[in-house]
Amino acid sequence: MSMAGDSTEIAVIGAGLVGSALALGLARTGARVTLVDAATDDFHASAANFGLVWVQGKGLGAPDYAGLSLRAAQGWDGFAADLAQGSGISPAYRRTGGLRIALSEAELDRTRADLARLHNQPGGAQDTRILDRDALRAMLPGIGPAAVGAAYCPHDGHADPLRTLRAMRTMLPAQARIKAMQVTRVRPEASGFVIEGGEGRVTADRVVLAAGLGNADLAPGLGLHAPLRPQRGQILVTERLPPLLDIATHNVRQTADGTVMMGDSKEDAGFDRGTTQSVAHKIATRAVRSFPALAHARLVRSWAGLRVMSPDGLPIYEASTSNPGAYLVTCHSGVTLASLHAGEVARAIAEDALHSRYPAFSPARFAEAA
Ligand SMILES: Cc1cc2nc3c(=O)[nH]c(=O)nc-3n(C[C@H](O)[C@H](O)[C@H](O)COP(=O)(O)OP(=O)(O)OC[C@H]3O[C@@H](n4cnc5c(N)ncnc54)[C@H](O)[C@@H]3O)c2cc1C
Repeated sequence: MSMAGDSTEIAVIGAGLVGSALALGLARTGARVTLVDAATDDFHASAANFGLVWVQGKGLGAPDYAGLSLRAAQGWDGFAADLAQGSGISPAYRRTGGLRIALSEAELDRTRADLARLHNQPGGAQDTRILDRDALRAMLPGIGPAAVGAAYCPHDGHADPLRTLRAMRTMLPAQARIKAMQVTRVRPEASGFVIEGGEGRVTADRVVLAAGLGNADLAPGLGLHAPLRPQRGQILVTERLPPLLDIATHNVRQTADGTVMMGDSKEDAGFDRGTTQSVAHKIATRAVRSFPALAHARLVRSWAGLRVMSPDGLPIYEASTSNPGAYLVTCHSGVTLASLHAGEVARAIAEDALHSRYPAFSPARFAEAA
């Protein structure tokens, strides 16, 4: 056991959506947890994302991921109620169903072909279906004439990621604490790990890397593998509007506050978090073609965030074999998977069963692919 003071049973590095969910879940198993983050107000991807709890289209060729995403979405009702009750902060989750709108027959054909392939593999949302133009119009009267159809999945929905984050952190039980520290190194020693940074050090029996893109620097010293790259996504936000859109779509959604968020660009721009006019124009044009009423809406904000991408886009869940007690958890769908990270994934770490329960998400798959 660790000594008192700046020592803990489990240190979780990174207090974004992934680390905060894990810290909450681990602390609820009774463990003493310290959540370490460089700047607790700067959550990178966790503050910059689109807020979808999304299942449809996920896990093509990867049934375990399709199943994980479905399980996560199904867990969100209970998770959101739990957060609201325990913290007094509602994550504004609604399972509205989700639409991927096609603006051409070619787009709809591609979506239909992907869906057919997904239906031919086990797991995932088998009840996702294609809507033709009339069925889409019946579901969404405000849809524009350019929309030719859509894929619809009843399990999809959306949440407010910042409120989710605040709720999880507010709910951390008394034996958990948060330490502001930029971690420069995690050093294994005979009885555990020393987490070092400019602002001091923390010793821990076990350590979980959940630092988003920051994992790439910290993982190698612990025999963990985090071949991550940033993928930029830009988002535009309108002023508050009257109710316009009761269903989440993959690139336009109306938040609980009435603002409409748009975007889903996928850009290879290194660590540059700048926005560009050309991408903003594309996003806005597509949104207005889908929902003509948006043509008159005023934009109030735009930003860019960096997704935390693994080579195949799937989560990486790893338990170190060279340094037992060190784990890595990272994913590019941290909103969707938060319900599981705070639940079954945290329990798997607590029980040292991460590898045996999630073999499909081991980074060994990258070596096999190579
Ligand atoms: C534009 C965009 C749209 C997205 N849309 C969705 C969506 O609709 N649905 C969905 O499910 N997901 C979405 N995502 C993905 C989701 O936001 C991420 O999967 C999730 O936020 C990742 O959380 P994280 O905690 O791993 O990383 P981050 O949010 O990056 O948090 C990592 C934390 O670790 C800290 N840190 C890093 N290095 C160190 C260090 N050395 N020492 C101490 N602390 C450190 C950082 O300060 C940060 O707070 C989107 C992402 C983007 C960018």
